[in-house]
Amino acid sequence: MAGTDAQGTLVSVPEGDTVWLAARRMNTALAGATLRRGEFRIPQLATVDLAGATVREVVPRGKHLLIRLDDGRTMRTHFRMDGSWHIYRPGTTWRGGPGHDVRAVLATEQWECVGYRLHDIDLVPTDEEDRLVGHLGPDILGPDWDLEEALRRLGEHPDEQIGVALLDQRNLAGIGNLYKVESLFLLGVHPWARVADVPDLARLVERARTLMRANLHRPEQNTTGDPRRGRDHWVFGRQGRPCRRCGTAILLGEQGPSTQERVTWWCPSCQAARSPIDPQARTGEPGRPRPLTAGGTRPVRYV
Ligand SMILES: [Zn+2]
Repeated sequence: MAGTDAQGTLVSVPEGDTVWLAARRMNTALAGATLRRGEFRIPQLATVDLAGATVREVVPRGKHLLIRLDDGRTMRTHFRMDGSWHIYRPGTTWRGGPGHDVRAVLATEQWECVGYRLHDIDLVPTDEEDRLVGHLGPDILGPDWDLEEALRRLGEHPDEQIGVALLDQRNLAGIGNLYKVESLFLLGVHPWARVADVPDLARLVERARTLMRANLHRPEQNTTGDPRRGRDHWVFGRQGRPCRRCGTAILLGEQGPSTQERVTWWCPSCQAARSPIDPQARTGEPGRPRPLTAGGTRPVRYV
C-alpha cells in the first residue's frame, strides 16, 4: 500500500528503486568515513555504539539496505511501507518526522544520516549476511541480475497468482506493489492470472525492470513518461477513475493469502481479455475476483 502525505496524495513507495537511490546517496556520504556517532534507537540494539567504526560501503540488496563496516560487521535496514534515511549536514534541522520516529543515527564529520521508521534493523558479521538476505531471488536492479534464475523460481510455483508471485522476494527481489500493478497493466495481464498462464513471463519481468531503471536516479516513480501531476501512473492509486487506454473504471481489490493481503489495481478490460483468470478466484461479477480462501497460495515473503 502506498503512503499518503498530509493532503492525501500518494507519495513515493519504498521499492527496489527507492532503496537503490538511498543506498547510493548513503554510500556517497559514508563510504570510507569514520563514524563519530553510530546509535540505534531500538530496544534490542540500544546499547550498541558504532562510533569509531569506518564505513566500507552501503549497498542495496532487493529492498534491504546493507551498511558494511570495515570491522567485519553489516548493519541491515528495511523501509517496509514507510521507512526512510535522511542525510543532513551537521547542525541543520532534521526534518524527516518526530524524534520518536528516529530508529538509527550514523554521523561522520561531514554528514548525519538519520533513519526514520526503519524496520528489520539488524547487525551481523558481514560473512553471515545470508542469514538476512540469503532467501532473496535475483536482484532486479543488481549488477548480477539473472533473468533466467528469476523465471526458474517463478516457474516453480505455476499455480501461484502472478500478482502475488511478483511480490514474493524469494522469486526475484526488488519489486513492490507499484511496479507490480503497472507492469501487469502494461502487459495486459490480470493480477489473478496463474504464473503458468502468463503469455510472456520474461517480457513482464523485464518490463518491470525497465520501469524501475527509468526511475533509478530520482525519487519520483513515474511509469507513464507523462510528467504532469496526476498523470504519472497507469492504474496505481486510480480506483474508479477511467483507464488511460480504454476508459473503463479501474478496479481496486485485495490479493494474497489471508492476513497477507495487499491492495492491487487493474483495468478489467485491458487486463482480462488477454489473460486467462484463475477460475478459482473468479466471481459472477466480471473482473472482480473474490478474496482467496486459505490454502490458495503459500505464505508470501514480502521482505
Ligand atoms: Zn483499460
